[in-house]
Amino acid sequence: MVEMSTGIKNLVRTLDSVDFLKMDRRTFMKAVGVMGASAFLGTYKTEIVNALEFAETKLIWMHGSECTGCSISLLNAGNPDLVQALQKLNVNLVFHETICAQQGIWNDGKLVNNAEFNSEILLEETYKEGNYILVVEGSIPNGPNGTGRYLVIGNKPFKESLAEAAKNATAIVAVGTCASYGGITSADSDVAEDTDYRGVAFSKTNKNGGMLQELGIDKPVINIPGCPAHPDWVLLTLGAMILEKIKLEDIPSIVDDYGRPKVFYPPDHTVHENCPRRGYYDRGEFDEEVGGEKCLWKLGCKAPYSHADCGIRRWNGSVSMCTQAGGPCIACVEPGWPDIARPLFVEREDVGIVGANIDTVAKVAVGAAAVVAGVHAVRRMKGE
Ligand code: SF4
Ligand code: SF4
Repeated sequence: MVEMSTGIKNLVRTLDSVDFLKMDRRTFMKAVGVMGASAFLGTYKTEIVNALEFAETKLIWMHGSECTGCSISLLNAGNPDLVQALQKLNVNLVFHETICAQQGIWNDGKLVNNAEFNSEILLEETYKEGNYILVVEGSIPNGPNGTGRYLVIGNKPFKESLAEAAKNATAIVAVGTCASYGGITSADSDVAEDTDYRGVAFSKTNKNGGMLQELGIDKPVINIPGCPAHPDWVLLTLGAMILEKIKLEDIPSIVDDYGRPKVFYPPDHTVHENCPRRGYYDRGEFDEEVGGEKCLWKLGCKAPYSHADCGIRRWNGSVSMCTQAGGPCIACVEPGWPDIARPLFVEREDVGIVGANIDTVAKVAVGAAAVVAGVHAVRRMKGE
């Protein structure tokens, strides 16, 4: 079992005396921002069980065009694991393509045309009942020529399956950068125009270009980007929704311009600010080859313009994170990724990003470093 960090332990002790479920939304969101899913679900186990005694939440999890990495990331959540988290939050995971039991009209040679074994029937019934949260992982192709037939499951374009599932959903959570903005599948290429991969609510940075807009469906959507998404971002967002700490009418105020919960993707905070290698950056000491211990900026690190709490929350049970492990941040949480970060492992100062110019962003980062570390370090970094 992974130990909580001292900071989180102190926070948990402080919050222990507070009736968590009576917290106002703002305090709640701050609390989940600094706690991991394990601390959150572990500390407030009794309160959550009481609050959810009779309230089961149905969840439908659909897969579009993707690598299933976000599900794998979630399944790697160790404490609690996915099953424990679903049990604690009283979630009925109605359907999840990759982890549901064997399904079909024929099952082990027997005709089993009922909702228990045939997920098509189960989904139809659930859609009719409504009152479920829809999670979408993966992007949705619109091509060729608006048919969506670049992804067909059971002879049905995924675009149509999404329309059926989205119509009666209470809310939609787009998990991963593909579902949020199109991600890797929508990267610029010779065939990108034909395939026309979309996110649920966004197409890259365009908030009017998502598949829901194309389908004429208006639903509240929360984006949890990341390639993959952090299990805490997913579980804590779902937990907050299930506990009604995020109400539908609250969504616009808790997300940024790109539909991301500000608590996990702070608009005024970048991964760079809490990077374990930050001291090297401030002193202008950079690795020129992989495998070193210094700042990875010259190896293409894009963390100064990546808005996420990776540096605080860390990954794999708070053990490490990309830059700590020696991998330059590739800005996987940003709309327009991966194009906005390409080439990934090359220092670049000439590409635009999310309405800002990398050169400007780099100068802002340099300016922030100057305040902290003194101008001489920055001069050394710039090679002056
Ligand atoms: S540029 Fe990257 S490696 Fe360097 S301090 Fe910032 S986040 Fe860390
Ligand atoms: S450190 Fe950067 S690349 Fe790694 S998960 Fe966070 S935002 Fe993505």
